[in-house]
Amino acid sequence: MTETPTLTTIKHFINGAETAGTGGATQPVYNPATGAVSARLHLAGRGDLEAAVAAAKAAAATWGEYSLAKRTAVLFKFRELVASHVDELAALVTAEHGKVLSDAAGEIGRGLEVIEFACGINQLLKGAYSDQASTGIDVFSFRQPVGVVAGITPFNFPVMVPLWMCPIAIAAGNAFILKPSERDPSAPMLLARLWKEAGLPDGVFQVLHGGKDTVDGLLTHPDVDAISFVGSTPIAKYVHETATAHGKRVQALGGAKNHAIILPDADMDNAADHLSAAAFGSAGERCMAISVAVAVGGAADTLLGKVRERAEAIKVAEGTEPGADMGPVITAASKARVLKIVGEAADAGATLVVDGRDFTVPGKEDGYWVGPTLLDGVSADMTAYTEEIFGPVLAVMRVETVEEGIALINANPYGNGTAIFTSSGANARKFQRGVHVGMIGINVPVPVPVAYHSFGGWKNSLFGDKHIYGEEGVAFYTRAKVVTSRWPEPQHASDASYNFPSN
Ligand code: NAD
Repeated sequence: MTETPTLTTIKHFINGAETAGTGGATQPVYNPATGAVSARLHLAGRGDLEAAVAAAKAAAATWGEYSLAKRTAVLFKFRELVASHVDELAALVTAEHGKVLSDAAGEIGRGLEVIEFACGINQLLKGAYSDQASTGIDVFSFRQPVGVVAGITPFNFPVMVPLWMCPIAIAAGNAFILKPSERDPSAPMLLARLWKEAGLPDGVFQVLHGGKDTVDGLLTHPDVDAISFVGSTPIAKYVHETATAHGKRVQALGGAKNHAIILPDADMDNAADHLSAAAFGSAGERCMAISVAVAVGGAADTLLGKVRERAEAIKVAEGTEPGADMGPVITAASKARVLKIVGEAADAGATLVVDGRDFTVPGKEDGYWVGPTLLDGVSADMTAYTEEIFGPVLAVMRVETVEEGIALINANPYGNGTAIFTSSGANARKFQRGVHVGMIGINVPVPVPVAYHSFGGWKNSLFGDKHIYGEEGVAFYTRAKVVTSRWPEPQHASDASYNFPSN
């Protein structure tokens, strides 16, 4: 690993300004395609956390009083700024995450959708009114912001996942503190600058960098009201347990093991195209990546040959290189873990149809490269099945019936996404009704819902009861009030009673 002497440092964004903070410690940020250190990241100390929370609390009190028209004016401006900085944001994502530029631009596009949804928050905050619910009595409900929201996000979508959260939280009148992944913190900092340029008051959107200490500080701070978390399952579970024990509302989205069932009646070329893209795109580092292909009956042999052809044709290169399909994985440790799991599968009897373990990009041998890897004959007891690999590895399993495939999916502890490839409506319907999974694709391999629906899995893929963004996001970032009101005429006869009031 090399480190240039004139490294830039990445600071926090607290109360409208970039600051190195008082924590003192820094850690390296790497370019995964070269293994070189590209910057040093300042880590927050307790004083930085206290400063950010205090600024958020003060900002929430005033921002929450802004009219809806004034708040959405900032959202519209922010939307324009993000749209005009897609290339700049994508370049930052590629430099620190490693995914190819077009894929990075794609994640920003999905984030933009959520900003656009949040521009229409007025419609969703209209509340409800029941005229004359009882004689002379009207009942109405409306929603108010929760106050200070902290968002803790993973490395794999450094722009999209923060944008799943902050546009809605902010449009609803909250202040938002983002604790992004330490691995790719530069794009979130550009988001902070764009929020400020859009006219957002200081303290409403802040970025605090750090690891477990910073997260723990947010989870337990009495002035933080709600936590949105996206990351791996063990941390999601911990975040949910810790923050709920400290009286906060929490949505904590975790890891995944997404299966696709392929029936013999599917269009096999189409299925192979989509499976290959869903398994190897972004080096398999998507929580909605397909990592298990469940071939039914005679589908396996045709499918394997076709996926193999596609896997071998993938261009793996630095994300900035024209025509690159897939970049490196995120860290040296991640690469070592992927190789270990692939090796264990081979030792346990799986067939390595395509072996990406020895892959490297000439001239960039220090990058964290893993080539597309296709495993056949994987069984449910192998680590290649029990672990979320989070690398470019597709495991093929074989079953005899669609019912057996559904049972396999339902026995898995995760329930984020799943897909079926078939031309049978009856089997697709059986599948959509039968699987215990939150997001389902029918001939769609990565069924990430559009912004006006909500995103979330079942079982170990989500702790908490609210999915993220869409209407469930609005509900998560607001609290309901119901008002029962009576405006008596001046000389009315009182109807007060010692009995419980009824109609
Ligand atoms: P991670 O769990 O390691 O980190 C997520 C966040 O938690 C980061 O901000 C990190 O700093 C923080 N963190 C890490 N360890 C912590 C600890 N011990 N205590 C407190 N905070 C801690 O996840 P990652 O490796 O950055 O991201 C990949 C994971 O995220 C995968 O499991 C993937 O499936 C999951 N993910 C899920 C979704 C979803 O929508 N369900 C979306 C994207 C990613």
